[in-house]
Amino acid sequence: MIQIDGSQGEGGGQIVRSSLALALVTGRGMAIEKLRAGRAKPGLMRQHLTAVRAAAEISRAEVTGDVIGSSSLTFRPGPVIPGEYQFRVGTAGSATLVLQTVLPPLLIADGPSTLILEGGTHNPWAPPFDFLSRAYFPFINRMGPRVSGTLERAGFYPAGGGRFVVEIEPVRQLKPFSVLERGPLRQQSGRVIFANLPDHIAQREVEALQRLTGWDPACFTVEKIDGMGPGNVVVLELEYEQVTEVFSGFGEQGIRAEEVSRRAIDAMRKYLVADVPVGPYLADQLLLLLGIMAWQTGKKGEFRSVPLTRHSSTQVDILGQYLGVISTVTPDENSKNVTVTVHLDR
Ligand code: AMP
Repeated sequence: MIQIDGSQGEGGGQIVRSSLALALVTGRGMAIEKLRAGRAKPGLMRQHLTAVRAAAEISRAEVTGDVIGSSSLTFRPGPVIPGEYQFRVGTAGSATLVLQTVLPPLLIADGPSTLILEGGTHNPWAPPFDFLSRAYFPFINRMGPRVSGTLERAGFYPAGGGRFVVEIEPVRQLKPFSVLERGPLRQQSGRVIFANLPDHIAQREVEALQRLTGWDPACFTVEKIDGMGPGNVVVLELEYEQVTEVFSGFGEQGIRAEEVSRRAIDAMRKYLVADVPVGPYLADQLLLLLGIMAWQTGKKGEFRSVPLTRHSSTQVDILGQYLGVISTVTPDENSKNVTVTVHLDR
């Protein structure tokens, strides 16, 4: 049983999700103490509990501490059983983060899986569905498995009620990748997605996007969708030869439409100025996949990114504790950017 300190590093839900994913991948049980100790509402919240239950369901795990507010958890998995599963968060808590927990083990399971996930699909502080399907899944597919996702209904904060389906064709072993440059730009696009809000909001967001990017108007689309409650997100996408990155700005009560567009554009500009292929969010999510690959195969994988966020450095620590995998971080000569190499040997 491996002991994990839930308050280390970033100290949030990511430690729980990554520890569960690695318990499933290795078959090795774990105990977490001081779970989300650093957060305003510490302990397990609904979204994390759904991730624990999902991880337990696909591995018939023995679990203690799986109640809302719990500050400790033990998890003893059995072998991962691929198949058809449905996981419901039940609030607007992120269903995409539940996927982050069960997807890595199912990528290397004995057979295909189909997952139906219900809950939040477009929340601030979690990967929006579009980020998964356009930025994250292509990297997984590059590593060998075939993963695709279909959004059936968007779930915005606070109403939730979204739903998406993920199809997974696994492989026995993940393949490494090396992404040090973006390569040439192939496509750029912007989407305004909104539900149960007046049309002029979307219109003003598109106008702001056009004005601030200077892109051809044909690059932009507006999608008026059904949702349980009001919701709005602006999604910008840059597709390069080596990587696709996705940037989002979320509508909020009291925030002007132009500001929502500006937030997405600010995130994109930071990425463009940094001149790296992998942005800060993709970095912590790719680290987990590369760690599993290095542990399975002994091969090394690498990418260039901005200086590591706390989410990323926490991921590095957990990969070290769980898998004995090392992430060597080498700063660029002329900037603060880094190349992260994930490997087994010292
Ligand atoms: P936590 O704060 O521990 O719940 O973890 C949040 C997770 O969501 C991390 O893996 C982040 O990389 C990811 N995330 C947060 N915001 C975004 C975003 N706008 N786009 C993509 N991923 C995100």
